[in-house]
Amino acid sequence: MNIKSVETFLLRVPLKSDITDSINTVSYIGLVSLKITTSTGIDGWGFNWTTAGGSEFVKQMLDRYFSRELIGKDPYMRKKITSDLFFIENFGWDFRMGRNGLAVMAVSAVDMALWDILCKEAQLPLWKVLGGYHDRVEAYDTDGGWLSWSTENLVKNSKRLVSEGYRSIKMKVGSKNPEDDYERLKAVREAVGTSIRVMIDANTKWDLETASYWGRRFDDFDPFWFEEPINPLDIRGHAELRKKIKTPIAIGESIHNKYTFRDYIDQKAADILQVDATKVAGITEWIEVANLAEMYNINVFPHTNIQQPLHVQLVASSRNASMVENVNWLLDVWKDPLIPKNGFFELTDKPGTGTEITSEAIDRYGQP
Ligand SMILES: [Mg+2]
Repeated sequence: MNIKSVETFLLRVPLKSDITDSINTVSYIGLVSLKITTSTGIDGWGFNWTTAGGSEFVKQMLDRYFSRELIGKDPYMRKKITSDLFFIENFGWDFRMGRNGLAVMAVSAVDMALWDILCKEAQLPLWKVLGGYHDRVEAYDTDGGWLSWSTENLVKNSKRLVSEGYRSIKMKVGSKNPEDDYERLKAVREAVGTSIRVMIDANTKWDLETASYWGRRFDDFDPFWFEEPINPLDIRGHAELRKKIKTPIAIGESIHNKYTFRDYIDQKAADILQVDATKVAGITEWIEVANLAEMYNINVFPHTNIQQPLHVQLVASSRNASMVENVNWLLDVWKDPLIPKNGFFELTDKPGTGTEITSEAIDRYGQP
């Protein structure tokens, strides 16, 4: 078996309504989908995505540089193929373009597609290929807590989510006036009670001083974690913040390589790793980070805006992971979308990684 053809698709998928966090207002998702077809007729699907612009560059990287490197290769040589992609054209993508951005996102799509081929050839879902640990996966919801929503709406949606069976919900912080965040968190805590986990997410907005002061104030309401409080490149700053507040610190959705995760662990700078297979170099590197974290007794709760069909399978096969973020933005794009019921995702028995999209989605959202 070898790789016979490679195709890419760029989709622009509008959201039902704009959403806002501390640094972005998002109206659509830019999705790059990659299809690798083998000589035996198996289609392996990978993808990557951005909130709005930038996905076209990932597509260009796949089209102009990576695709031709894949033709004729043995898809079972996944680690060799993806390692080599960082060093084609004598350019050294690894150090000049990759491991922190677009090149690693393109490699991630290739890695996923090669895993999809492996799973489909084995006629098994990814979680079974990796070895199952959980027989279902808890969902936590973020879609009720955007910063653009009024406190009244935030409270209403938090109560609705709890009534739907969620035991964990997340809300955004990072308002211009952090006092507003304090009052919003207080209102949510009072509305849902103490048995529900409430997480807060500043999307990297604050400096260390602001995060330290307000992190201590937020401790009043016992958040389950404080996500991306400051610049994710500032590992030392996170280590300092961790000593100043009680709430556990979660990082990962803006980190694109396993070495940075290692350094966070080394410097005792985070309590929870939110490694995302679309940000690091795919499923392979996600597993490496999760396994490293397990040896340090650190939990992994992967970041997910659209990729829950993939991350649910990865969490299902991990001893130190148990929960996946649910954001139902692309339900009509995935071939096998996952929707939580009573706060849990059920596992699929369909062969593959869960990264295949439908031809209808390509027709509806595809860009020239
Ligand atoms: Mg986040």
